Amino acid sequence: MTYQLPLFREEPEIKKPTVPEKMQRMLEDPSTTLLIAFSGGKDSVAMVLYLLDMGIPKDRIELHHHDVDGHGSNLFDWPCTPSYCQAFADAFELPIIFSWRAGGIRREIYREEEGLQDVYYHTGQLHRLPSRKGSSTRRKFPAVSADLRTRWCSSVVKIDVLSRVVNDRFKSGNLLILTGERRQESAARSRYKAYEKYRSYTKARNAWQWRPVIDFHEAQVWDLYRKYRVQPHPCYELGWSRCSCQLCIFSSPNTWASINELAPWKVRELAAMEEDLEHTLYNGMRIWEKVNKGRSFLRKEMVQRWGEEVMGQFTSPIFTEEWKTPQGAFSRELSGAV
Ligand code: SF4
Repeated sequence: MTYQLPLFREEPEIKKPTVPEKMQRMLEDPSTTLLIAFSGGKDSVAMVLYLLDMGIPKDRIELHHHDVDGHGSNLFDWPCTPSYCQAFADAFELPIIFSWRAGGIRREIYREEEGLQDVYYHTGQLHRLPSRKGSSTRRKFPAVSADLRTRWCSSVVKIDVLSRVVNDRFKSGNLLILTGERRQESAARSRYKAYEKYRSYTKARNAWQWRPVIDFHEAQVWDLYRKYRVQPHPCYELGWSRCSCQLCIFSSPNTWASINELAPWKVRELAAMEEDLEHTLYNGMRIWEKVNKGRSFLRKEMVQRWGEEVMGQFTSPIFTEEWKTPQGAFSRELSGAV
């Protein structure tokens, strides 16, 4: 079967997306499982809608979400994100698998004379994937850098977790792992390949990583939301341009000031961690200095509508009749990884 590319608005600076030939062949092979790294952010939602628009059957699609706090107490993540992801999966009748590294980012910051924590995932049944024992010490925040070796948070709680789950679940067969990076987001991402062999590709496990929205303009992402009338994650309604960790280390001063207005206890906790670790997140600059440099972009009426929900459980409907572009759309305020 040949899948049709959806129609997108045509504007001079917006190119119509294309599917690389190799990816098209895998899409057309019904034995290929499509596994979507689903953060609940706009690019992960766009990937799902893009596949559905092409006519890909739902029974070939599986969503995977990583809990960055690793089922420990909530600090880095938006509290509503897991419930938003579950509500989206339920609304589209898609399976979703939740996975995490025990204790998440905070636990890894405090690693002392030990190895990485174990990985878990839930498929209706809980699976535990033990990590190698070790005796190294971290006691540091991740570096605010595009280099994934020093900005270890992305690899420890997301990239490595997903590949451990893939290795455990898929010993063989054809697999496309879809991730939502877009070139427009940063200079580093502009150089990413549209597709490549997945990190745990083997002769038996024909696994490829595909970035289907790599060339999407942000307008094309919101067009898909509008078409399906999907309610975006509430953080976009509050003015965030990216929905990653709520406490993303790449946040701008204005974003930190907004976090502090919404969840001052989180900033206080980070400040206490800086004291305890004798290490600052921003190269000698304390978190309070960063917060005090910015101005909150939160609007009172939006906090009234979404504040409680974003800091608790997502309970609004996924499909909304009166779809409006959220405040955070097209914002250049930094709030996510580069
Ligand atoms: S969103 Fe930010 S803080 Fe979270 S894992 Fe990515 S880079 Fe790290």
